[in-house]
Amino acid sequence: MKLTNVRFTFSKRILYSFAKVIAINNLTRPETMGEPEHVLICVAWPYANGPLHLGHVAGCYLPPDIQLRFERALGNRVLLVSGSDEHGTPITVTAEQQGVSPQEIVDKFHSINKQALLDLGCAWEPNVDPRGIEYGGALFNRTSDPRHKQLVQENFVALLNAGMFEQKTMQQYYELKSEGGGRFLPDRYIEGTCPSCGFEAARGDQCDECGTTYETSELTNPRSKMNPDNDIEIRDTVHFFFRLDLFQKSLELHAEDNWPVWKNNVRSMTKNWLDMGLRPRAVTRDLDWGIELPLEGDEWSGKCVYVWFEAVQGYYTCARIWSTEYADGTHPDGENAWERWWKNPENGSQPRHLYFLGKDNIPFHTVIWPSLIMALNNTDNEISKDDDLRPGPGDLHLEDNVPAMEYLMLAGGQFSKSRKHAVWLPSFLERFDPDTLRYYLSINMPESHDTDFNWPDFVEKINNELIGTYGNFVHRVMTLAERLDEGKQNNPLQAYDDISKQGELIAKINQFHNDITTSLQRHRYKEALRSAMNIAQLGNQMLQEATPWKFLKIPTDADDEWYAGQQQSLGKLAFAWRISRCLSIVTQPFLPFSAQRLWSNLGESGNVSDSPWTDALDWESEMTWDGQSPTPLFTKLDLDEIISQETQLADDSTSHDNNDPTHGVKGGKKKENEKMTDAPEGTTYLKFDTFMEVEMRTGTITNVTDHPNADKLYVVSINDGTDEGRTVCAGLKPYYNIEDLINSSIVFVANLEPRKLRGVMSEGMLLAADDGEGNVRLITVSGEISNGSQVR
Ligand SMILES: [Zn+2]
Repeated sequence: MKLTNVRFTFSKRILYSFAKVIAINNLTRPETMGEPEHVLICVAWPYANGPLHLGHVAGCYLPPDIQLRFERALGNRVLLVSGSDEHGTPITVTAEQQGVSPQEIVDKFHSINKQALLDLGCAWEPNVDPRGIEYGGALFNRTSDPRHKQLVQENFVALLNAGMFEQKTMQQYYELKSEGGGRFLPDRYIEGTCPSCGFEAARGDQCDECGTTYETSELTNPRSKMNPDNDIEIRDTVHFFFRLDLFQKSLELHAEDNWPVWKNNVRSMTKNWLDMGLRPRAVTRDLDWGIELPLEGDEWSGKCVYVWFEAVQGYYTCARIWSTEYADGTHPDGENAWERWWKNPENGSQPRHLYFLGKDNIPFHTVIWPSLIMALNNTDNEISKDDDLRPGPGDLHLEDNVPAMEYLMLAGGQFSKSRKHAVWLPSFLERFDPDTLRYYLSINMPESHDTDFNWPDFVEKINNELIGTYGNFVHRVMTLAERLDEGKQNNPLQAYDDISKQGELIAKINQFHNDITTSLQRHRYKEALRSAMNIAQLGNQMLQEATPWKFLKIPTDADDEWYAGQQQSLGKLAFAWRISRCLSIVTQPFLPFSAQRLWSNLGESGNVSDSPWTDALDWESEMTWDGQSPTPLFTKLDLDEIISQETQLADDSTSHDNNDPTHGVKGGKKKENEKMTDAPEGTTYLKFDTFMEVEMRTGTITNVTDHPNADKLYVVSINDGTDEGRTVCAGLKPYYNIEDLINSSIVFVANLEPRKLRGVMSEGMLLAADDGEGNVRLITVSGEISNGSQVR
């Protein structure tokens, strides 16, 4: 809907501010009351070119599952959408490296990844909410789905006809095949020498060595990565560009609306993009693996829809496909059921849209995708840069919150220093209870800064917190109840249950429950889980003080005083039973498997995930009993055993070929094309004379300043033994503080041809060691030696 009327625009802004105020006020209420909300949970689409690792899980896939389980318990109607991103160069690169078709790659990893997510307990199945179709459901789809393709092509045509695209001629590298013909090379298929640091295997648009980004045309000595011997040349190619610039103002207003609820990282990255000014962005490219352009004419053959443009629409197409597949004939709105989650109704209420993704993806979801949505809302209107295009009633809704995570890193070199090492989700789940991973990643979630996965910490937190605090508490309660010398038809604690005496504890637990609720509404998962653990901790303290184990058997000399003590002590044990039930409900979003085991051990029937959130505070429910001996919820972990298994796995995978898609991936970050070129055909020996041509000398760092035009570079002044000294640009900024470099005795290459790096002349190169796992250390000189000494 286009808004040209000033008064209407104003009133709509008021309406939106009002809606946001309600949303914020809700945060302080213990529960969402009244009408259930329609909540659309969108999860970033994983590339189907490799298995998921723990970094992905912590950043993208666990948080939305916790949120979904919580929202469902509140009674909200949740639709969960995502799937495999199966197009684009990450897939074709992997396929070419392995010598198989892209289709084989995506088929393989779509099923591996979906199964791993299900094994982790993520609620991608069943597709329809167990409470009924009106409550929504979930679909983990694929971008190769023909219905996705059709909807994307329809949108492409609609946007093209509405004047939302412009055509531009670009220059692109083209590879000439020796047998004739050729192909355009996307950035990932180009390699060359970094214009900033001189690294020779720099990729098309960014240098892995110094981190500088540049245009592909700035690379020196560019070549085809896959076929370095083929000639390449620059050719003109025509592409469509989406008019992102038309939405600058609307996006600024939209960001302003959401400022109070967005996280700092989301605000700052969005602001950076908006401050730079939005420019048209290519929506087509020269590639044959993707959705073909819905256009006639030879000039468009060999081009496809750019993967960013189509994959991001997956959030929308997935909801529509879910609707056609499951709601047609069962939902009151039939195949239009998706509109309940996607369109602002005429009555002024709104669905709530939550997007879960890693920090590298933020601008796509706060700038690019909302612009596309606003464009789709306005295909029937003439629009200009001055319009306020924020959606009104009947329009597709924009994102409300984007609780993007920072990265989970993997402790580098812990098991094998010589190689990249990731922890893959499928292999993790073969060996461990999924709830142990869910616990560790939740309590260690990279919400506001990068966090680190390492095995000793994992074992420590599982054994001491998950088991020590929570598992042991509930197990102790059930074991003590079983030992009570009474009949086992009913819960023996019923006779001692008197909640009127537990007012103080109930007040504390109510507060913890309220804290968990508030934290989850604010997407603070770590904090929420800690509050849940606080309830278990409170239970432990209570049992420790009440010493119920002293009152299980009646002594021969029991007197009135003893019986009064027993009544009181076992009253606490009875209350501990009720706390265990409370814990089963509040841990369910985080730890669904163990919560269900506890629920059944307590003799409760059905699924704990069907329990309303407020039932955790029902202190008067019937005390159930299953009559079985309790089994511990978790098994303690043995660090030595894990380390030896990990070492074994690490050794096994060192023998893998470099083309393994899992190679070179670690922590939460992919280093996609590391080692991609050196298909090892034996070592190339360097002639001794050639080596001797390199002149290395010692020096002392006398001064360091930030490079004015490059984020990763320092400008380093070196006393090289000469009066004038020399200046070198070095990519050390991510690894060293300035004060730690000053006065270091270092080694530098003295006879490298001086070059200007982003405007500053660099006369040489510092030597540093890089383990490939994020650790970079300068080569220093031990002991005294004069500056300018030759290194041999
Ligand atoms: Zn570089």
